[in-house]
Amino acid sequence: MQLSELPPDIWLRSVRVPAPLLAGAPVSAGPDGLVDLDLRLTGGRIAAIAPAGTAPAGIDRDRGMAWPCFIDGHVHLDKTQIWARQHGADGTHDGAIAAVRADRDAHWTEADIEARFDFGLRCAWAHGTSAMRTHIDSYWPHARNGWAVFRRMRDAWAGRIALQAVSLCPAERFASDDGEALADEVARSGGLLGMSMMGPANQPALDRVFELAEARGLSLDLHLDETGDPASGALLAVAETALRRGFRRPIQVGHVCALAMQDEATALATIRRCAEAGVRVINLPMCNMYLQGRAPGRTPRWRGITMVHEFRAAGVPVSFASDNCRDPFYAYGDYDMLEVYREAVRIAQLDHPFADWAGSVASVPAASCGFADHGTIRVGAAADLVLFGARTMTELLARPQSDRTVVRAGRVVAARPPDFRELDAVLGAA
Ligand SMILES: [Zn+2]
Repeated sequence: MQLSELPPDIWLRSVRVPAPLLAGAPVSAGPDGLVDLDLRLTGGRIAAIAPAGTAPAGIDRDRGMAWPCFIDGHVHLDKTQIWARQHGADGTHDGAIAAVRADRDAHWTEADIEARFDFGLRCAWAHGTSAMRTHIDSYWPHARNGWAVFRRMRDAWAGRIALQAVSLCPAERFASDDGEALADEVARSGGLLGMSMMGPANQPALDRVFELAEARGLSLDLHLDETGDPASGALLAVAETALRRGFRRPIQVGHVCALAMQDEATALATIRRCAEAGVRVINLPMCNMYLQGRAPGRTPRWRGITMVHEFRAAGVPVSFASDNCRDPFYAYGDYDMLEVYREAVRIAQLDHPFADWAGSVASVPAASCGFADHGTIRVGAAADLVLFGARTMTELLARPQSDRTVVRAGRVVAARPPDFRELDAVLGAA
């Protein structure tokens, strides 16, 4: 029996699942942290999990891996795919900010954002992602367009990709009257409050952001210290502010690249404060490699990512995510979380042993972002799976796995990533 004809009640026999992606009782895992199982899919849900070789009949996967669908906890679906019409982006962070600002001012109608946003979601859908958290450029009052598109897309995609959204603008923007209006728009949209800060922390602006979030019961998701300058100290300021104010809602922080450039004792002290404050960290390895350490004619000397092993050792949840796709902050990318995982493993040496990190693109971001019922394989969960022929981690990571099978609610998804030509008219690039 072929996978393409999955009946409504079927055993997938002899599948391998990374142990961190299995909810429930601890299991003993083999090499690479993989557990051999038989999975019963009934009526679109995972109806049973049994030791490998005990199911009576079904489709034999011959040790091919099964992952839960991926969780992409930090993306920018409002910026996505503008690469073809922007001019002047040079691969630097400053160049990207200027290029996006020019594109936003010239082109970002609701129709423009929606066409690109939807394209990004279709990429993610085809690659096997079931939940995403997107940042929305939030310069008031123009931000209304992005938030209106988010609300429409969240409703239109409900049941396929669960969507969350976060505001994004420099923290100082919240100090003006616009801060109240923006925070109200975020709250009205069911979003999270977010901002960017790097360099020496602006404490009054930081307290203002916390205050606006507290008044509305909003969680935080912050772009911090996205620079190689060791003097950039926003992360420590955020942890200290959260502790001082007794902030109770979840805080996720992205990037925090500068930490890796600080002396070890200073960095480890900050990591300890993050652990105490309950901060969760999300890393954007492809974007960081692209932007950090870039100077004309000079070979980059560092990988741009933060101290993921040290965060994890301190008990801080660490996830990986796509961040930007085909915009001035990152010229490539396709919302493929297997690509993100593969690159993260190589860049940050998340191997030997592999097992510890498989959760970083599924179960960990699901918990960090609060996507209940996503990111793990367990009895009763939706049968949302990504099936691979690969039997080991090096088989998995050696190839792009373009022949993977995405299963949603027990049915095979036939979708392929959309053709870039679809956006030619939107981008004026035909
Ligand atoms: Zn970002």
